[in-house]
Amino acid sequence: MNPPLGLFGGTFDPVHYGHLRLAEESVAHLGLGGVRWMPAGQPPHRGTPQVTAADRLAMVRLATADNPSFSVDAAEVEAAEPSYTVHTLERLRHELGEQTPLVLLVGADAFAGLATWHRWSDIFDLAHVAVSHRPGFPVELASLPDEVAAEYAARRLADAGQLGDATHGGIVTFAMTQLAISATQIRKLLTNGLSARYLLPDSVLDYIQTHSLYRNP
Ligand code: ATP
Repeated sequence: MNPPLGLFGGTFDPVHYGHLRLAEESVAHLGLGGVRWMPAGQPPHRGTPQVTAADRLAMVRLATADNPSFSVDAAEVEAAEPSYTVHTLERLRHELGEQTPLVLLVGADAFAGLATWHRWSDIFDLAHVAVSHRPGFPVELASLPDEVAAEYAARRLADAGQLGDATHGGIVTFAMTQLAISATQIRKLLTNGLSARYLLPDSVLDYIQTHSLYRNP
């Protein structure tokens, strides 16, 4: 079996240090061979992102460029149809074969909303799910929607080391450094002409300024 591969999807509108710490800490906490970032093209669960998929992809490339554990998968951005995670996982499973455990990385807020995702229960036939703590979103059975709580109770692994024992099907949680940063907050700051410095990498902020992004709500 190969080391587990982390898969990190998101709108990244824009990418920020909350995302980067989640990916960075997941490598050590979960024993991952690396993290593949997968910016969404047209995310089906939410409103249209404020900037184009090409800009969001470019910002993820800048933010991750100097980390050899990170790679960027542009397939969702390039696809004409909406970005359904289950389709991406099917493609990757086909591409990588049955020797690589896949670990879908999600923040606690995204995990709580999992049952709204297209064919959500099929995800567990393709990948494990690793849930990172995020300020304001407890990962407790009592606070999760019933369907998600039931999967969590049934699939929870006692220890992240078990992710390497099977290619898919488990759920783990991990406590990353808590950073109450969101892309929504950054967009608001930029729209109001305020500083977003130190919430995201300078390279991304430079890109935003050069391309005059997030100036209008
Ligand atoms: P928005 O504010 O536009 O909703 P966001 O900051 O939540 O954006 P997304 O691109 O929607 O960013 O998130 C991608 C993934 O990263 C999701 O799984 C989300 O839960 C997780 N995530 C984002 N920010 C954090 C954070 N500060 N701490 C932990 N997880 C995070």
